[in-house]
Amino acid sequence: MNLLINAIESIKVGVEDYQEGSHARLLASVRSIHAGVLLLYKEALRRWSPPDSDEVLMKTRILPRRNAKGIVQFVGEGTKTVDVQQVKERFAALGIATDWTRFDRITNVRNEIEHYFTNANKRALESVVSDAFVLVRNFVTTVLEQDPLELLGDETWQAMLKVSEVYEAERAECAKSLSAVNWESAALADGVLDLTCPSCSGNLLRPGDDYKNYEYDMALQCRGCGESCKTRNFVPRAIELALGGARYVAHKDETSLEARFTPSRGHTHRRKPRKPLKTNARDQV
Ligand SMILES: [Zn+2]
Repeated sequence: MNLLINAIESIKVGVEDYQEGSHARLLASVRSIHAGVLLLYKEALRRWSPPDSDEVLMKTRILPRRNAKGIVQFVGEGTKTVDVQQVKERFAALGIATDWTRFDRITNVRNEIEHYFTNANKRALESVVSDAFVLVRNFVTTVLEQDPLELLGDETWQAMLKVSEVYEAERAECAKSLSAVNWESAALADGVLDLTCPSCSGNLLRPGDDYKNYEYDMALQCRGCGESCKTRNFVPRAIELALGGARYVAHKDETSLEARFTPSRGHTHRRKPRKPLKTNARDQV
């Protein structure tokens, strides 16, 4: 039960830090919320570990061992617990669903904010609280089968809910206007929805003008900090997000992105089949 208590405490402290709002505590807030959600994931792995396996699923090292009956079983070794990549692999193998897009966004904000924290990052913090709220609500309910309101307590729950409602409403508006553009590429159409602002790390980018179709010189604008992002910056990132690292490399070998997105050729590139990108991403929200 310790993991779950630690997870909830970490998220609660993170939300308190967020509300207090000073520079140092906002930094601490992102770290705490990120750690809290990761602990929730480890708790799920702990629960799914077979009995007498030393919590095998949440341990980094796994070793075979013969039990008293001589049957070989896998057990956890040492005290080191899984990292994010291992959680992803084990969740995938076990069919445990969570919204990795949201979690990765929290991770990115945590990484970026350590290096480039400015006051504009308030919006990024709101996105972290909002993503964490949606993740915790869905994961605790569907995977851990507990009541998130009961676990988090009314105060934390209401604070997160308030931030999340406002933020998600704006995010939905941004997604709607992004989806209204004909991107002429399924991957690009998917990828733009997951872009974060290079300046504030928020997820509130939308077309900077009333574009009907993809245009070579179009820009996306951040609703959080006002930063503008040109095609040469956001298109490669969107494609990478949509296709994932390995596929992106393979794709680059096929044909260069510049060739694909240079308008003079009239967008003659082949349409790639739409890949199911996330396990249960936005549809659980
Ligand atoms: Zn921004």
